[in-house]
Amino acid sequence: DYILNKDYFIEVIDDLIVLAEEKKDYFSELDSAIGDGDHGMNMSIGFREVSKNLDSWKGEDINTLFKNVGTALLDKVGGASGPLYGGFFSKFGVPAKGKEEVNFDEFIEMMEAGVAIIEKRGKAVVGDKTMVDTLRPAVNALRVAYVEEKMAPKDAMKKALEVGSAGSDSTIPIIAKKGRAMRLGERAIGHRDPGSASSAAILEIFYKRMP
Ligand code: ADP
Ligand code: MG
Ligand code: MG
Repeated sequence: DYILNKDYFIEVIDDLIVLAEEKKDYFSELDSAIGDGDHGMNMSIGFREVSKNLDSWKGEDINTLFKNVGTALLDKVGGASGPLYGGFFSKFGVPAKGKEEVNFDEFIEMMEAGVAIIEKRGKAVVGDKTMVDTLRPAVNALRVAYVEEKMAPKDAMKKALEVGSAGSDSTIPIIAKKGRAMRLGERAIGHRDPGSASSAAILEIFYKRMP
């Protein structure tokens, strides 16, 4: 049976901490074009807080581990992405409550739980030029690839990443119906949504670390 254990999830969190520093300027540049230029800084502030505390969380089950990540983002990040990614990580671990490892069906449930709370909090749907344009198609593709097409877990996640990245690309030629870019109207056309880019980068980490 294919298993994702706690070490996998801790490696993912370690990579998220690195990502937030490495892509800080890139995410903020995207946000400068159609927002207030702080998306990279917001991610960095949130994951620096995670980094400070991660060692003390490593003894917890997967649910508590991610609840702590989510709470750190919720507490420290001022922007829209704080409650959205904070919600994602707070709910991500719920299907793994009390567990030290999960199977791939449970992993898909975790992804679904995380994406669902972003949609609920942000009230965005695909096509609104937000992170949902990456995440919703990706989690749907993950389920179809694994459950219906019987792809191997890592191949299914690769498919999800490809679909999510294409979803981020799809934000470029459209206007925004949620978030700060909404106020720009047609001037948002031609620019990638920053949250859709950070979401694709997060999915890539989940994919790359899979055994
Ligand atoms: P802020 O816009 O408050 O400065 P960030 O710059 O950190 O926050 O994050 C902006 C990103 O948040 C956007 O690029 C978009 O992907 C996402 N976002 C904003 N509002 C919503 C929403 N209502 N639903 C989903 N995602 C949203
Ligand atoms: Mg911003
Ligand atoms: Mg801001």
